[in-house]
Amino acid sequence: MNKKMIQDTQEVIEEVMKKEGISRRDALKLIGLGSAATMMGGVTSASAATEARAASSAKGKIVIVGGGLAGMSTAARLAKNLENPDITVIEPNDRSTTYQPGLTLIGGYTWTDQDIVYKTEDYVPSGVKLIKDRVVEFDPKANKVTTAGGQTISYDFMVIASGLVLDFGRIKGLEEVGELYTAGHNQKAADVFGKSGAGSIYFVEGAMKVKENLHNFIEAAKSGKKVQGVYTHPNTPIKCGGAPKKIMFLTDSNLRHAGARENAELTFYPNGSKMFGVPEYNEAIFKLFEEKGMKYKFSHNLTEVDLAKKIAVFDHHWKEKGEYDPDLEEYDMITKHERVEVPFDFLHITPPMKAPDEIGKSPVGSSKGWVPVDYRNGTLQHIKFKNIFALGDVAALPLGKTGGSARKQYKVVVDNLIALMEGRELTAKYGGYTVCPLITEIGKVMLAEFDWSDPANGKFNGKMIATLPLRPDEPHWAYWLLKVYLLKPMTQYGMLRGLA
Ligand SMILES: Cc1cc2nc3c(=O)[nH]c(=O)nc-3n(C[C@H](O)[C@H](O)[C@H](O)COP(=O)(O)OP(=O)(O)OC[C@H]3O[C@@H](n4cnc5c(N)ncnc54)[C@H](O)[C@@H]3O)c2cc1C
Repeated sequence: MNKKMIQDTQEVIEEVMKKEGISRRDALKLIGLGSAATMMGGVTSASAATEARAASSAKGKIVIVGGGLAGMSTAARLAKNLENPDITVIEPNDRSTTYQPGLTLIGGYTWTDQDIVYKTEDYVPSGVKLIKDRVVEFDPKANKVTTAGGQTISYDFMVIASGLVLDFGRIKGLEEVGELYTAGHNQKAADVFGKSGAGSIYFVEGAMKVKENLHNFIEAAKSGKKVQGVYTHPNTPIKCGGAPKKIMFLTDSNLRHAGARENAELTFYPNGSKMFGVPEYNEAIFKLFEEKGMKYKFSHNLTEVDLAKKIAVFDHHWKEKGEYDPDLEEYDMITKHERVEVPFDFLHITPPMKAPDEIGKSPVGSSKGWVPVDYRNGTLQHIKFKNIFALGDVAALPLGKTGGSARKQYKVVVDNLIALMEGRELTAKYGGYTVCPLITEIGKVMLAEFDWSDPANGKFNGKMIATLPLRPDEPHWAYWLLKVYLLKPMTQYGMLRGLA
């Protein structure tokens, strides 16, 4: 942590403590959460150490497709747990281990790209081979993959951790932005947004654009102009479901700090009809929206953006009763649509997302385009090909595409893969743990931890859980410390090293 970060922390904490009436003594007690942070999800560095066991002598060539957070952490842990590791990571991006959860803090707080961009080569575990290329073909029956550069690589076991693709090109007017990877080199894509006020924290240069846009938005509000902030959430699964709202809460908070909140109208336009899939968090977020005067219009899917005219176009959809079916004694339900044009001064776009086509549409993909794994038994083993596992954003799981989920999944994959190599039963299970630290203002975060309520009975709804001694559905400054100062080192020095 550098000097400026320490000063920033002190300022934010002092301000929140004053507002909350918290004494320094209580604050110190809660700071104990810092060490507890490493326990989130039941994982401590101490437990990682006690987990250390004799390395397995199992043999086999392991190929990992994708060297982002999930893939590189898996490689690191496998390398530690195998006596003679033969591990190859295939990853085209030279900054794949970039810290993506920090993107929100670029767009809406003081961080910059310098705080989050990390070089892949600095995180390749010792003994692991890196091939800087993209897999373009999968032949799981012959246990082979082919790369864009024309190499054919065979394997005994494969782990797919390719993350997902941002599909901006699906929105009319953003065809030039096209398909992007969050940590790719995407300056040209960010430049497409120009001075329109539109942008997205879902990629690095996009987050820098959002920072610039937010500054201009706040300056306009400060000058007395009445301004409109518009925030979207698409009709596909997305990574970090909280991020579209985090950037909205941060806009609200920045406007308040600037004394210009009354000049801005902030409206959330999600495709769905809830704030969050878990009832407690859903309710808590509704309350916060009300308290902060933030508006929402459900069932609006962003389909078009006119950057020159600063207009966002939505497909507003709803159901209406159609014909009555006397045999079934019910009405047909018909989906109706209307085109809604919304002018904006600031637009935050959460783009549609999908698995990379070369994976989703390949023999290892599923009809919905993600990689199907056995989540009912929690093993994360591929449904069809038993020597393949998948984890992270590309895995077809019912909930939670977050780094917090991947942090639980990669240990399960490593344990089960080694069990498979040794000819043992797969006993490690992923129970759906997800954490989504939802920033609700500068200085406060709602932790939003959940897992699957009753997977054994085929139900995979999110259930609120708490691994720290504070309510996870109440915003708290201690969670801000966790989010802003602890989770990044924990990821870089713990998870990516196969430890935390
Ligand atoms: C704005 C934002 C905010 C977020 N906030 C949080 C948060 O607060 N908390 C949290 O826990 N998570 C958060 N996340 C989500 C988290 O960062 C992701 O869930 C996590 O990075 C997923 O890891 P992954 O390894 O599956 O994917 P990635 O880290 O994206 O890595 C996938 C890698 O696979 C590579 N790849 C793709 N296709 C191929 C191919 N064909 N061949 C070879 N390699 C390939 C890609 O180049 C990429 O490097 C946030 C994400 C964003 C964008």
